[in-house]
Amino acid sequence: MGFLFKSGDELYDLGIDLIGRKDYDEAREKFFAAIEKGVSKEKSELAGIYIALINVGKARGDVNVYDQLRGKCATCSVQSLKFGLTDVDMGALAEECRISANEIRATSMPEQDYMAKGKALQASAAEYASFGDQPLKISEIFSGSTKATGSREALILQAMAFEVMGRGVVYADPKKASEYLQMAYNFRRQIGDSGEEDLNLMKKYAKSAKCWICGRPANGEGIHFMALRSNISQAFRTSTEKDIVKPASDDFGSIYICIPCYTAISNRSDEISRKYYNQAMTEMQAMEARLTAQINAVRVTATIR
Ligand SMILES: [Zn+2]
Repeated sequence: MGFLFKSGDELYDLGIDLIGRKDYDEAREKFFAAIEKGVSKEKSELAGIYIALINVGKARGDVNVYDQLRGKCATCSVQSLKFGLTDVDMGALAEECRISANEIRATSMPEQDYMAKGKALQASAAEYASFGDQPLKISEIFSGSTKATGSREALILQAMAFEVMGRGVVYADPKKASEYLQMAYNFRRQIGDSGEEDLNLMKKYAKSAKCWICGRPANGEGIHFMALRSNISQAFRTSTEKDIVKPASDDFGSIYICIPCYTAISNRSDEISRKYYNQAMTEMQAMEARLTAQINAVRVTATIR
């Protein structure tokens, strides 16, 4: 309502003021109204950029909002603006939008195409690396932190790339997967993360065992072999002494079994259980029918008396 009595310039100033107070939704309304009322070409361009920037803040995972903002920065005649306390250079912002959109595209690729996704994440990491140590303005504005820089984001994306490739390749090549997880771990350490998850996976993928049942060697615990609780007498413990790759855990609490042996046994055991379950159900239904018949017979007798 108040819009009607305010000039475009006043509305524009209100927008700037609301940004300072972090009331972005209201600010956006004022900028729209300012453009509608009419302001100078420069203010109109800036208002458009403010609106597009606020839209990015509202949908950080949406490629389109970054593309729209980048388009506005590219055609804008002003060099820089102030968003609250943050100085923003138009060229740098346009580049940040471009690489952010590429990052979203890479991170939203399906995990099954793990090599393609890994390469896309690495390409994105390279773009952030060229962005360098300057803070990412969109993070600064909407997360209030100057910690996010191009260099740091590059390390995060490198770690993610090796994690994706490691988790994917482990089914075909657990040794390679372990190497990838080692790389991911190194990148995580560089950004100050513990990297614990990567380290654990790296160790599991690198672990070797011999299947107690078929004797085949296997690498990659939890993927290609697993430990099953078992009683291993001293005689059997002694028999494993010469094995370089062990068929049992160090404490002899479990045997190692390869996944083909494991799934064959579980599948067969499921079939046996199902057979007994069906048998039991059939017998119970027959018993229920007999009991119902008996109860009805008793009722009939009771009525006659
Ligand atoms: Zn086996």
